[in-house]
Amino acid sequence: MLVIIQVFAVALWLALAYWVYQDSRRRFENSGGIVGSTLIALVLPFLGALIYLFIRPPEYLTDAHDRELETLALEAQVEGLRCPECEAVVGPRFLVCPMCTAPLREPCRRCSEPLDPAWQVCPYCAAAASHPTSHPSQETCIS
Ligand SMILES: [Zn+2]
Ligand SMILES: [Zn+2]
Repeated sequence: MLVIIQVFAVALWLALAYWVYQDSRRRFENSGGIVGSTLIALVLPFLGALIYLFIRPPEYLTDAHDRELETLALEAQVEGLRCPECEAVVGPRFLVCPMCTAPLREPCRRCSEPLDPAWQVCPYCAAAASHPTSHPSQETCIS
């Protein structure tokens, strides 16, 4: 009976060490953290895994990366730097969306700086901005 308990304990200890190894792989970016955590779990049976629970990084790497992307997307949203067609993040000076080629800004006729469609006047050279696409009434006049 004692042998069975011992075998069971060793199996549990190894399983815990393996779990710590798998779990740390998802939380540590450097291999030192993974090796260190696994060693603690191996050297200190059961207690090592318990210690690991307290010292491990609180979130998965993928979660951290997802949050980073979300923050980037949020920043872009606040600044209005998104393609209206495909939602791709675009730069403040892009004339067209690089993802779907949707027109984003018109170059100034005088100084060629990228102008926001909402602007009435070029902020760089004070020339009046022209919006050929934002006046549908002009199109009906042609026919
Ligand atoms: Zn686009
Ligand atoms: Zn201009």
